[in-house]
Amino acid sequence: MHFLGSYNGSMRTALLTFGLFTAVAFAQKSPGFDPVAIDRSANACVDFYQYACGNWIAAHPIPADQSRWGRFDALQERNQEILRQILEKAAMPAPNRAAIDQKIGDFYTACMDEAGINAKGTAPLKPILDRIANAKDRADVTAVMIDLFKDGTTPLFRFGPSPDAKNSSQEIGDLDQGGLGLPDRDYYLKTDEKSVELRKQYTAHIQRMFELSGVPAEEAARRAEGVVALETELAKGSLDRVSRRDPSKLYHPMTLSEIESSSPAFAWEKFFSGIGAPKMAHLNVDVPEFLKSVDSVMAKTSVDDLKAYMTWNVLRDTAASLPVAFQEESFNFFGKTLQGAKEMRPRWKRCVSQTDAQLPDALGKRFVETTLGAEGMKRTQTMVAEIEKAMADDLKSLDWMTPKTKQQAEIKLKAVLNKIGTVEKWQTYDTVTIARDDEFGNVIRTNQFEVHRQLAKIGKPVDKKEWEMSQPTVNAYYEPQQNNINFPAGILQPPFYDNAMDDAVNYGGIGAVIGHELTHAFDDEGRQFDAKGNLRDWWTPADAKAFDERAACIVNEYGGFTIIDTTKINGKLTLGENTADNGGVRLAYMALMDHLGGKMPPPRDGFTAQQRFFLGFAQVWCESRRPEFSRLRAQTDPHSPGNFRVNGVVRNVPEFQKAFGCSDNQPMVGHPACRVW
Ligand SMILES: [Zn+2]
Repeated sequence: MHFLGSYNGSMRTALLTFGLFTAVAFAQKSPGFDPVAIDRSANACVDFYQYACGNWIAAHPIPADQSRWGRFDALQERNQEILRQILEKAAMPAPNRAAIDQKIGDFYTACMDEAGINAKGTAPLKPILDRIANAKDRADVTAVMIDLFKDGTTPLFRFGPSPDAKNSSQEIGDLDQGGLGLPDRDYYLKTDEKSVELRKQYTAHIQRMFELSGVPAEEAARRAEGVVALETELAKGSLDRVSRRDPSKLYHPMTLSEIESSSPAFAWEKFFSGIGAPKMAHLNVDVPEFLKSVDSVMAKTSVDDLKAYMTWNVLRDTAASLPVAFQEESFNFFGKTLQGAKEMRPRWKRCVSQTDAQLPDALGKRFVETTLGAEGMKRTQTMVAEIEKAMADDLKSLDWMTPKTKQQAEIKLKAVLNKIGTVEKWQTYDTVTIARDDEFGNVIRTNQFEVHRQLAKIGKPVDKKEWEMSQPTVNAYYEPQQNNINFPAGILQPPFYDNAMDDAVNYGGIGAVIGHELTHAFDDEGRQFDAKGNLRDWWTPADAKAFDERAACIVNEYGGFTIIDTTKINGKLTLGENTADNGGVRLAYMALMDHLGGKMPPPRDGFTAQQRFFLGFAQVWCESRRPEFSRLRAQTDPHSPGNFRVNGVVRNVPEFQKAFGCSDNQPMVGHPACRVW
């Protein structure tokens, strides 16, 4: 699902989830496997993560502008530096600059002009704030909301194109819950001390943002209360994250008149035609219950509070393009309070990220030209083919699946499309004006361009070649509705992939990532889609039951791990990712053994190929987290923290026990050893 706006509701299952403030401090290129990172005082069979990563963690405290610091953050940082060089070069106003360099160079220049942005103050906001202020009734509020949507701000709910879950080659309109400023509905509903305190801090933050926009303190406080009350209503009608993992709970085709009768207080037809959505015979409503919350908000909230809520949405979404006081206030809550970062990222990093977000294909094209080598591409393609073969072998060998379901699984596996570091058709931005002295306008215009582009997809065939991540991104994903695995150029670098490293290390790094994404096709969510990406049950009841039993082992295993304080991993929320981590390592290991064909290379740095495979895998996940960040992610992240991504997996893999000579009663040997794939 391609949603517009800041909240990522996509069905895709990515390797990592990045937060609002993710960039990092200066980093050297780090090798695929680093013997210096190893803590040799630790026992690999007692705590493999500590063994593989202990020295790295001790030597790399979290930089002040970070809430998490790991080896993949270091890679993200390196990519940022490459992007900075590209942007600074493109920013030089040479007479015959290529059009693409004018776009990214001038966008970056405008963003970097802090003095110019400060000098304008809130003037760029004035037209939209005036429109909100002048709204007299609910109809006026809806008209304002239409304008906001076209500018990239999405109050109340999310709407955009998405493949029809049961006819995945067709894009339809998709209406989903949304409208919240906090990262999850539970933040509004939980009554424990920390949650209550956080809501107070959130309310105070909204108040300060109103004050910065010129509202007197008392009035700002009143409005902030109204905003939080309204968002709480929306939270009450929102579906929780674990339930949202089940795609059948998110599929409810409805006609426009059905939507209107379920939620008569909102002028749906006016809204859809106002934003320029194509005519829709039906659209998918992910959470029908949520429509009732929208209805009650529109019917019962005072016009003043609705206006305050619209204003808050604008302030929050445009803070990054406003004077530095807005950026600092936004950082103080979303970066510091919620995630524990100590300092705001330097401006150049924020501007690199913003250019990447707003002009992804222009900057991404230059990045791919600069970084992606032919050798890396070729070795990665070989690995993908080998890992897909390992999955096919694995399927054949399963004792718990009947031939009938196996055959369907094989058909699905064969149909998986691989996309590796290349884009066939780059999006161009010829129609978007980018001015060197208009940061605010540049962001709004690129938003308008993207909103228009997304809405135009509705009613058209799905373009499976389109990417949902920019190429500099250090991440990867599987898209169940398209049945494809996607590896942007940003991740095809050390520590994930290293030309200078042996196969064992690369199969442990990027190989396990490839296996991870492929396994998503067969995790608790992915398995509900068929070879074509349609939501269709191709499992016999007995096989589905056998799958659930194996999955339950993973739920129990990870559910026993403590993240912070007394908070344990949510085993159900993280099931898909943990399944993928386990499957990924097994498949990559099988592929490596096949690749080596029984000829084990001599030990390197004192480690056998088998040991280097597991060390290469573990060292990708070396990281530290601030406590605030850990608490946030415990509620929202479908991925386990790095230490459990490593130890949770190796406990289940007998080849690990063999490689490191662990005895049966040591902690890194699981009882039971869970295995789905
Ligand atoms: Zn994943």
